[in-house]
Amino acid sequence: MIEAWIREFARLVVAEAPRLTELDSAIGDADHGSNLSRGLTAVVAALDEGSFDDDAALLKKVGMVLVSTVGGASGPLYGTFFLRAAGALPGGVPSAFRAGVDGVAARGKSTTGEKTMLDALVPAVEALEAGKDWGEVLAAAEAGRDATVPLVARKGRASYLGERSAGHVDPGAASAALLVAAAASTLG
Ligand code: ADP
Ligand code: MG
Ligand code: MG
Repeated sequence: MIEAWIREFARLVVAEAPRLTELDSAIGDADHGSNLSRGLTAVVAALDEGSFDDDAALLKKVGMVLVSTVGGASGPLYGTFFLRAAGALPGGVPSAFRAGVDGVAARGKSTTGEKTMLDALVPAVEALEAGKDWGEVLAAAEAGRDATVPLVARKGRASYLGERSAGHVDPGAASAALLVAAAASTLG
């Protein structure tokens, strides 16, 4: 259920916010956890208040709230994920996920191997499209997250560090793995 997915993502982000911020303190500006927990808290408030014609309208609202409440790179990127996913949701969850991930890549002018959220999202959507079950999809996201450790960041603030960005998990890849974990426990 789509609303349960979003609520579970919000719960995980708030619970893991200190760890996300700690990751961002190593290679960024120590705000990823606070950025996302502010946004997802506003999303939950919007879900509590609003009623939506359908799940696509709900996801569109999620995207708009994230764009307007999350500062930094991750707000527009996660916002784009949900706005694009909303548009493709009538085609099913894998189509929605694919549209969201492609939206992040287009908005961020980014691809895999650049130490971003895409390193977790792309393997997950590929597993989903291959018909894997949600346990395997989550394993793919987590493996992608962990594989960001040796990478040198090519996008976002972490790229300012150059070679010194290697040796750390990318914070956005960590939050993206939470998005997939939430999907695995609610959409599976
Ligand atoms: P900021 O870097 O502006 O403080 P956040 O800390 O909230 O924003 O988010 C940082 C995360 O955003 C990074 O860890 C990375 O995963 C993701 N990110 C940054 N730039 C891009 C991009 N161009 N494409 C995809 N993801 C990106
Ligand atoms: Mg940051
Ligand atoms: Mg910032």
